[in-house]
Amino acid sequence: MDNPLLERLNENLRALKLHRVRERLEAELENAGRDMPPYAEFLSKLLDDELAVKLEKQTSLSTSLAKLPYVKTLEAFDFGFQPSVDAKQIKELAACLFVGRAENVIFLGPPGTGKTHLAVALGLKAIAHKYRVLFVSAAALVASLNKAYSENKLEEKLKQYCMPRLLIIDEIGYVPVDTHGAHLLFQIISRRYERGSIVLTSNRGFGQWDEIFGDAIIATAILDRLLHHSTVINIKGDSFRLKEKKRAGLLKSGNDNNGLDLISKAM
Ligand code: ADP
Ligand code: MG
Repeated sequence: MDNPLLERLNENLRALKLHRVRERLEAELENAGRDMPPYAEFLSKLLDDELAVKLEKQTSLSTSLAKLPYVKTLEAFDFGFQPSVDAKQIKELAACLFVGRAENVIFLGPPGTGKTHLAVALGLKAIAHKYRVLFVSAAALVASLNKAYSENKLEEKLKQYCMPRLLIIDEIGYVPVDTHGAHLLFQIISRRYERGSIVLTSNRGFGQWDEIFGDAIIATAILDRLLHHSTVINIKGDSFRLKEKKRAGLLKSGNDNNGLDLISKAM
């Protein structure tokens, strides 16, 4: 590059961290020389491009910080397969006003019915709305709180889980939680109460939560705070995983339901 003006532009763009503009500059100047767009249009195109690249980077960084188990969008959710899920209600939640209001969303239903998929999809919407999101399984959450407790670092850990605007707690009820674990979980729920949203999934109805925690009092205390400002979505349908297995011919459909029951129990 032997054009001092271009060199200067390059240096300035580098200093301003406008990397996309820097990449595109020579080509866009050439196009502009040919097409002669209005000055404002030329500048606007370059800046739109820069913004789009920055936004994409930010979203992918936030998505990796959210530690989602997989990336599944709302657009990929087949509402036709799961008629008990009200598409309109989910789309309203996707606007993420509930995150701004520190309200909760709870997905209940049998395995394979799309609870985690919907929780992740709402997480991605929240990221797109620039909220900080963190996904954790209930078992991992309790284990990490227990570890922090034994290392005298509980306060630090509690703060860490209270920081994100949306905390997704997946799979409450798959693994029983002992009383100490339940108390630690209660601390998270009560600290986030009216301060930060929780999206939670569970395969067990609320009536069975005292069994999960082995203690009716703590289960009631958790539910009390969780449910006060919440939307509960009860999914009553078939497992999507089994549908796919059936389609692949791994299971017989029709009257012989034994295979389905067994696999259903194993999941
Ligand atoms: P759950 O958490 O209820 O056990 P998941 O959300 O993990 O179930 O769903 C199991 C698998 O099936 C995932 O790969 C998910 O993307 C897919 N799935 C479930 N329900 C649907 C649906 N209605 N449309 C598209 N994919 C679905
Ligand atoms: Mg799940």
